[in-house]
Amino acid sequence: RIDAVDGPVQSGVHAFLHVDHEGALARARQIDADRAAGADLGPLAGVPIGVKDVLTTKGLPTTAGSRMLEGWVPPYDATVVRSLHDAGLVVLGKTNMDEFAMGSTTEHSAYGDTRNPWDPTRIPGGSGGGSAAALAAFEAPLTIGSDTGGSIRQPAAVTGTVGVKPTYGAVSRYGLIALASSLDQAGPCARTVLDTALLHAVIAGHDPLDSTSIPADVPDVVGAAKLGASGDLTGVKVGVVKELSGEGYEPGVVARFEEALEEFRAAGAQVVELSLPNIVHALAAYYLILPSEASSNLAKFDGMRYGLRVVPEGEGVTAEAVMRATRAAGFGDEAKRRIVLGTYALSAGYYDAYYGSAQKVRTLVQRDFTAAFGDVDVLVSPTAPTVAYRLGEKLDDPLAMYAGDVATIPANLAGIPGMSLPAGLSEGLPVGLQILAPQQADDRLYRVGAALET
Ligand code: GLN
Repeated sequence: RIDAVDGPVQSGVHAFLHVDHEGALARARQIDADRAAGADLGPLAGVPIGVKDVLTTKGLPTTAGSRMLEGWVPPYDATVVRSLHDAGLVVLGKTNMDEFAMGSTTEHSAYGDTRNPWDPTRIPGGSGGGSAAALAAFEAPLTIGSDTGGSIRQPAAVTGTVGVKPTYGAVSRYGLIALASSLDQAGPCARTVLDTALLHAVIAGHDPLDSTSIPADVPDVVGAAKLGASGDLTGVKVGVVKELSGEGYEPGVVARFEEALEEFRAAGAQVVELSLPNIVHALAAYYLILPSEASSNLAKFDGMRYGLRVVPEGEGVTAEAVMRATRAAGFGDEAKRRIVLGTYALSAGYYDAYYGSAQKVRTLVQRDFTAAFGDVDVLVSPTAPTVAYRLGEKLDDPLAMYAGDVATIPANLAGIPGMSLPAGLSEGLPVGLQILAPQQADDRLYRVGAALET
């Protein structure tokens, strides 16, 4: 299927950056042999999976969508990838993404655009457009994404698939190339809520290699998905975030959202509207915190340690000249833009006004969520204000592109889990519904999501 639809780069889906034909076949055969020998294999043994190219894979190229890492082959597996191997999943290859996960369309990949399988002239979302498009084009039944401000949920929304950003710390970040360490979280992507839960159960859990990993049991997400599939939400209280629908959201998106609320009521849930007043500042705070952390995390790409090294011509070339030439050639425009923004926001004299203020807003957003979850079990909103727009439409207008992240970003600032799942079509294109739950209550996403799916 990948061979049939993924290429060529200029016109195919282009969800994959690298396909490990031989390695995947060898592993699949091994699992068949193990099964024939009577091995006790888990429920996902033998199932193929695509992995976002931001996670390190031992012996397989890992670029994070950047020229900076072209040709780099990691010497180790990310813990998530290790967990996939341990559970017998078959890694097919690495999926396309915006450079270092910065973007909402996958157009910032250094290796060409991914196209939305619903309409190849449109964006597949981002930064994990490859992982979402691979599902929608039936190139893989499961994929892994990463979500720093929506990069699992928004691509899921615009491709009609399911994606979950788990609670911060629920899935190990070891081997996840860092964008903004306090916001980054890897998570499961699939075409149904139950498939997503099965994958969630495989990748979540404490990892001593990640100091922010939560040392606690993983909630029973698979059980919750099965419970929800009964379609009964009696006793569940669903909160509608007043600030995250209505104005600024396309009419077709609002219509599908309101139908979803009707379905919740029909399933026996109580639906109430709530205000989270500080959420309107989340987007601005995120676009200071993210570049600040990114500018620090990306400083390691200096032409000395990983991947690309550009040495200028001539005599007496200094280390600084190599760094400058490497970064000029290796980073794309969006990465440069955010490094400059972050370096500025963190600089002496501006730190308190920008980074410090953004951190205070972050605390207020967290408090809004804590108060809201004192009242309701889950919160819901549209995942994104629009359906998939055309490739190129917002590429030269970064602020317009950032604005599309308004509904997904608050969950990352608060460290809470979020799901996007299909809520029908608007003018033939998928609309996503977002469900949010308190920290470490990821199971609620699956119960409520499965009920809506039924
Ligand atoms: N679109 C958001 C951004 O550009 C989200 C990125 C992400 O979650 N990795 O920052």
